[in-house]
Amino acid sequence: MKTPGMLRLFERQPEPAHLDITHNGEVYRVALKRSPRSRRFTLRVRTATRDVLLTAPTRAPLKAAREFAERHSAWIGVRLARLPHLVAFEPSADFLKREAGKDIEAAVKRYAKAIGATPKRIAVRDTVSRWGSCSSTGGLSFSWRLILAPPFVLDYLAAHEVAHLIHLNHSPRYWTLLRRACPDTDRAENWLKVHGASLHRFGAARG
Ligand SMILES: [Zn+2]
Repeated sequence: MKTPGMLRLFERQPEPAHLDITHNGEVYRVALKRSPRSRRFTLRVRTATRDVLLTAPTRAPLKAAREFAERHSAWIGVRLARLPHLVAFEPSADFLKREAGKDIEAAVKRYAKAIGATPKRIAVRDTVSRWGSCSSTGGLSFSWRLILAPPFVLDYLAAHEVAHLIHLNHSPRYWTLLRRACPDTDRAENWLKVHGASLHRFGAARG
């Protein structure tokens, strides 16, 4: 049973204003903002202030906020490195491909477990024409350029291909399964429609 004294103690636990996220030996400071209007975690790298902001629903546990930021630490690193006036630190395509591989594999494993499917192979390629594909033999492949998209889009593409392991088509049953596993489906599809092409320009611009 909680005594009034204990209750006050819990209430007074100060919430940190930021989280320090470590990735590949780098520490990223992520500002934490609670918002009663947000229903999911959102990460943003702000160009003007050169910092990272994590917006969290008011009641989401701090632990979940930290886990979310940690899961997307590679994305944070890439985004910070790509801020306009840090030209000298612009990551190489090799670095991006490696980071993409780690993020995509983690997302695929998460959705494979949730959906109950087992991918045979996960390949990350320099695919230009498509973001991802699923073969009839259970192999999934993805474009490494996904690392340049927001985390929810990378997550969605992983879920999209994993769901094809169950239904190798775009039937209504497929979309039902996918939307259940990935509530961001429509949001991500819209993002890809609007911004999709710019991800492909990245590689082309390097010549
Ligand atoms: Zn598909």
